[in-house]
Amino acid sequence: MAIHIEKIKKSKISEIDFSTLKFGQVFTDHMFECDYENGKWQTLKIRPYQALSFDPSAKVFHYGQAVFEGMKAYKDENEDVWMFRPDQNQRRINKSAERLDMPAFPKEYFMEGLNTLLKIDSKWVQKGADNALYIRPFIIATENCVSASSSNKYKFMIICSPVQGYYAGEVRVVFADKYSRAANGGVGFAKAAGNYAASFYPAKLAAQEGYQQIVWTDASNHEFLEEAGTMNVFFRINDTLLTAPTSDRILDGVTRKSIIDFAKSEGINVEVRNIKVDEIVDSARKGELLEMFGAGTAVVISPISGFSNKGESFELPKVENSYASIIKKGITDIQRNLSEDKFGWRVKVQ
Ligand SMILES: *Cc1c(COP(=O)(O)O)cnc(C)c1O
Repeated sequence: MAIHIEKIKKSKISEIDFSTLKFGQVFTDHMFECDYENGKWQTLKIRPYQALSFDPSAKVFHYGQAVFEGMKAYKDENEDVWMFRPDQNQRRINKSAERLDMPAFPKEYFMEGLNTLLKIDSKWVQKGADNALYIRPFIIATENCVSASSSNKYKFMIICSPVQGYYAGEVRVVFADKYSRAANGGVGFAKAAGNYAASFYPAKLAAQEGYQQIVWTDASNHEFLEEAGTMNVFFRINDTLLTAPTSDRILDGVTRKSIIDFAKSEGINVEVRNIKVDEIVDSARKGELLEMFGAGTAVVISPISGFSNKGESFELPKVENSYASIIKKGITDIQRNLSEDKFGWRVKVQ
């Protein structure tokens, strides 16, 4: 299907200071959108980035039918722009949508819309190791009606924001023993807006105690470690890298699965299995817990320097040639076309 394109009269790019960007505050010149009505996705459009107008009764405001994705594009020294495993985000937004009873957005529309938008706004993808374009596809319910049922109208959009790699500082985490992010049979595996809304309050309480992140545990007994904030979580005990299996409660992160494949290809022993809080605490006591890190698109890998469990604090050792640093370099080199891509993860915008 052809995309209807309306270009901006004058680019905003000259007004942007790319050296002082804060994450997610500046957006590119254009946005992609498509409305779902009468049982099907209608015209595909790219037009200047601008405010939208909605009726106050639009269902997204009342019942939270909203799902999203997060992905990135990078520019190499030859001015080529690369996406990282966009097929994974395309599939996942439809998996999320299905769980919230929203219509799937066709794969061809997603890929064509994404590629065309990135081509039109390619100036906004800056070169250099710290720069990237953060890409935010999302779907919201737009029917004007406050009855508590699924909407019959939706809007799919893609907006893009230039970002710089950020150093999050020392990240210290607390293991959850009261609040939960996700439950069996729930929506934890979906990138649903409401999952984030529900995590902000516990995260604020944790921040007041000096922790930048919560490591979520299973909702039943708080016995198993599942995710770090809005990232998947990895542990290194001696020379083994551990992460929990995906489930109803755990989001199937693209970074997570890329880390598992990359680590294995480097000869690192990786175990995907349930991880008990007790096991991690015991390993930390014995000095065998060498690393802990979060994994997600925004930072790729976010090393964790210490954790607290039931009021007791633990510091992790500083290790040389950490798995976190080896894997982060390996994956970012692939993303930025600085190394061979033996996994076939990189996709060129063309
Ligand atoms: C987005 C997200 C992740 C990370 O997924 P990536 O595909 O690696 O960016 C992990 N956990 C949660 C809860 C998320 O929302």
